[in-house]
Amino acid sequence: MLAHHCAACDETYLIFDSQITGVMNTGHGIEISFTCWCGAEQTQVTGRYAGRRTPDVVAA
Ligand SMILES: [Zn+2]
Repeated sequence: MLAHHCAACDETYLIFDSQITGVMNTGHGIEISFTCWCGAEQTQVTGRYAGRRTPDVVAA
């Protein structure tokens, strides 16, 4: 379960496991795909690396 602010309906909802349609490991974290309560397909990056700056960004 995660909290997500939907870009389509502009509301923050709890997203339950049953709404998740995909999970993918990426270089910037774990990208979770799901269907919002409003019906919009959304993604959220989570996990240990979510929101971290890369060394290139810090050095810039
Ligand atoms: Zn929504």
